[in-house]
Amino acid sequence: MVEPLIEPPERVLSTLNPDGTRRWMRPKVAMGRWWRRRRVVAWLLMILFSLIPWLKIGGKPVMLLDVVHREFVFGGTVFQPTEVLLLALLLLGIFFGIFLITAILGRGWCGWACPQTVYLEFLYRPLERWAEGKHRGKAIPWWRIGVKYVVYLVFSLHLANTFLAYFAGPRQVLEWSFGSPADHPAAFAIVLGVTALIMFDFAFFREQMCTLVCPYARLQAVLLDRDSLIIGYDERRGEPRGKMRRQKTEGKQGDCIDCGLCVAACPTGIDIREGLQLECVACTQCIDACDAVMDKIKRPRGLIRFASQNTLSGGQSKFLRPRVFVYPALLLLVFGALGFGLSHRDSSEALFLRNQASTWAESGEDVVQTVLLHLNNRTSELRTYELVVESPSRIVGGQFPFRLDALGMQTLTLTIFTPSSAFHDGRCTLRVTVRDDAGFEQELEQTLFGPPQVPE
Ligand code: SF4
Ligand code: SF4
Repeated sequence: MVEPLIEPPERVLSTLNPDGTRRWMRPKVAMGRWWRRRRVVAWLLMILFSLIPWLKIGGKPVMLLDVVHREFVFGGTVFQPTEVLLLALLLLGIFFGIFLITAILGRGWCGWACPQTVYLEFLYRPLERWAEGKHRGKAIPWWRIGVKYVVYLVFSLHLANTFLAYFAGPRQVLEWSFGSPADHPAAFAIVLGVTALIMFDFAFFREQMCTLVCPYARLQAVLLDRDSLIIGYDERRGEPRGKMRRQKTEGKQGDCIDCGLCVAACPTGIDIREGLQLECVACTQCIDACDAVMDKIKRPRGLIRFASQNTLSGGQSKFLRPRVFVYPALLLLVFGALGFGLSHRDSSEALFLRNQASTWAESGEDVVQTVLLHLNNRTSELRTYELVVESPSRIVGGQFPFRLDALGMQTLTLTIFTPSSAFHDGRCTLRVTVRDDAGFEQELEQTLFGPPQVPE
């Protein structure tokens, strides 16, 4: 290690050595009861992540983010980019849900369900331990390193394809996978790029994603309170800490024997005995490590445990507190509004776009101008649209009846003829009715600009 020019007064980051070089984490797995529970959850989640693109509700995918065709499906419900309010409500609902979970369960998401933790701790690190075998932490033969990266690459490619299936659908990805890259160069480039990013993250960047990059980790300070469930060290029970022999000779009574196993097990390299820290992802490894120690020295488990800060400092923890009411109330409000919006949304949408309606020309007795009509078929069936223009304007051109595919959108340019006599102070209102063949009907108005005075 290079000697630092200036000694930092204290540890700056758990992932940095004092000289600024990377401190590589090689956490020692503590295979206790929490580890076993998390492993079950992690495997179920990994299977679910791979299956979600294939699952359907009512013939629609459970989740599809089809950016190319501007179609977003959540829970079998299709959202289109024009439905900004509904999408905003959905996102707000997700945020409030995360706020509520964090207020009650602390960083349960990070430790149990976040793909970063799930894949790093239950796929990539186990693969690394398997590939390095007994050479772990020593000079590792080059072929073992090679095997590790080849296996990483295989899993990263699978993850990248699964990721792409969320955007393009699984059948399309399968078709691409068996076709020539020359037939779909963009998709091929995306898979390569995502594979490279996954490799970079899980093989190199690792826990720094949680400790340096993730914005959710930074939000913890405001989302947690002293009654939220965290993983904490019971200082009143553990201190004064000391080696067992010293405890005997000096009569120290704390349960912590300063074995350091909780620190050795921590994947983010922190010492939980220093209190709640931003780097703690609630992975429960320190609990398992310490429980095993407590079993050995015949002390009760739980020196490190799930508890609130109030409980750990000897007080009472309150479950019912303002944020436990405010977040569910907001959730109810947001999802209520979303449900109302979804149940009352029209099967189609028609609207005039801001356009060249202010530019006009005279053609005999008429004023001629174009307007843009945007049609959006929100159903999963083909629809045929009719347009009825209210007198005195009339439409010229043979676009109607107009057929629009399922979930299709189209902007039509309409040429409108209106008698000059219909304009007052240079304005006239165009009124149209748009209907489809399944009962949809919408009336629209657009101000047309024309000659300022009626010619004599
Ligand atoms: S302090 Fe404990 S719970 Fe937090 S990240 Fe480290 S091992 Fe996991
Ligand atoms: S594992 Fe338990 S006993 Fe060992 S240092 Fe950590 S808190 Fe103390």
